[in-house]
Amino acid sequence: MALRTIRTKEDEILRKKSKEVKKITPRTLELIDDMLETMYDAEGVGLAAVQVGVLRRVVVIDIGEGPVVLINPEIIDKSEKEYLEIEGCLSVPGEQGFVFRPEEVTVKALDRDGKEQIIESKERFFSKAICHELEHLDGILYTDHLVEPSEEQMKEIIRQRKIEQEDEE
Ligand code: ZN
Repeated sequence: MALRTIRTKEDEILRKKSKEVKKITPRTLELIDDMLETMYDAEGVGLAAVQVGVLRRVVVIDIGEGPVVLINPEIIDKSEKEYLEIEGCLSVPGEQGFVFRPEEVTVKALDRDGKEQIIESKERFFSKAICHELEHLDGILYTDHLVEPSEEQMKEIIRQRKIEQEDEE
């Protein structure tokens, strides 16, 4: 395993569309391992292959519940209800901004063994990570659709955070 360099927003590769993985080879598995190592090292919760300069549809996510590997992922369902939350990106260091995301998403993808998996996220944080990473595969950064919260929306964000904190206690 090896750490790979995380590309930052000035790098044009981040704007390119990643290609489908046709066959999972030892190189694909090495890429996945390196991506996980790189993501943990950078203390991120998600990483797309393009962020380490590889234009393949591979994503890794770990929101603190263990690694999730998504190959050729596709969102097949999402809740209409969206929420506004703060977001950041390893390729946009030192910045954060507000973005609308669906509360729940269902994603279909291959796992590292090439087996099809359907993952249903009911957790906002996980849904956000899935949407964020999948956008990378199409050359989109969260900074492309930033929202400036109104005073009302800001109050709602703070209220939701309090509920989540109480849930954890
Ligand atoms: Zn990102």
